[in-house]
Amino acid sequence: MHNTLEIKDFSCGYHGKFMISKINFNLPKASFAGIVGPNGSGKTTLFKGITSELESIAGSIFIDSRNIKSMNFKERAQKLAIVSQHIESPDITVEDYVLLGRLPYHGKFQFFESEKDFEIAKHYMELTGTIHLKDKYMDSLSGGEQQLAAIARALTQEPELLLLDEPTSHLDIGHQVQILNLIQNLNQNMGLTVLMIIHDLNLAGEYCNYLIMLDNGNMHLAGTPEEVLDYKNIEEVYKTIVITQKNPVSGKPAVFLVSGNVLGESKKYNSQR
Ligand code: ADP
Repeated sequence: MHNTLEIKDFSCGYHGKFMISKINFNLPKASFAGIVGPNGSGKTTLFKGITSELESIAGSIFIDSRNIKSMNFKERAQKLAIVSQHIESPDITVEDYVLLGRLPYHGKFQFFESEKDFEIAKHYMELTGTIHLKDKYMDSLSGGEQQLAAIARALTQEPELLLLDEPTSHLDIGHQVQILNLIQNLNQNMGLTVLMIIHDLNLAGEYCNYLIMLDNGNMHLAGTPEEVLDYKNIEEVYKTIVITQKNPVSGKPAVFLVSGNVLGESKKYNSQR
């Protein structure tokens, strides 16, 4: 199967300080992948390496079989769209914000959006349920609405790969599920390859079909959620006792935390499994 993203022996970081090293994984087209790992394990550093915000120290990254180093800004933006954790909410309307996603397609002397740009923006505002907000200002929206508008803007880039940094942080469970269901639909219906940083291991297990677990700048493990969200792996990397079970409805791995008061009992529980 064709790989949308290939990461080969990749290292990057902050010179003389923290570094992620020897990262290796491939994402076949239409993967829904998550980067997990404790605070400070290097998730954001890897993300910045993929977006070229940080220069590689070793190794390479290919998108659609092309080395990202050989692509200019526009070529990269046509393949890869980013939804950051902190959405800049400039003083512009949702429609104008979403239209920014068309910039990589503009010619050198094109200063205005074309009819096609407006059609594409409208299509993705409809798809993300933000069309009714199109004349509102970005900074007047709720966190969930801003997130949806940011996804609409990213989609107007018509990318092969959508990178999201913690798309559900700061959202209540209703909005978390709304955003992830939308991303799941895009992944399944458009064949979009998705890679997101996700803190919540339960959401990671429920939605992703591939997980990359980082630990102190290294890849601890990558594989299916069932392989990665094994209690032994989680305990080793997060230094925290957990209980893992299958979600009774979806069958996906679910992770439970246990308070200090009952920790002795949970240790017994895991050793019986
Ligand atoms: P995560 O996203 O998993 O929480 P990060 O990739 O943000 O981890 O950070 C990994 C390590 O890199 C941390 O120890 C952090 O302090 C360090 N770090 C992050 N940004 C910088 C920077 N600009 N300069 C130096 N060190 C940094």
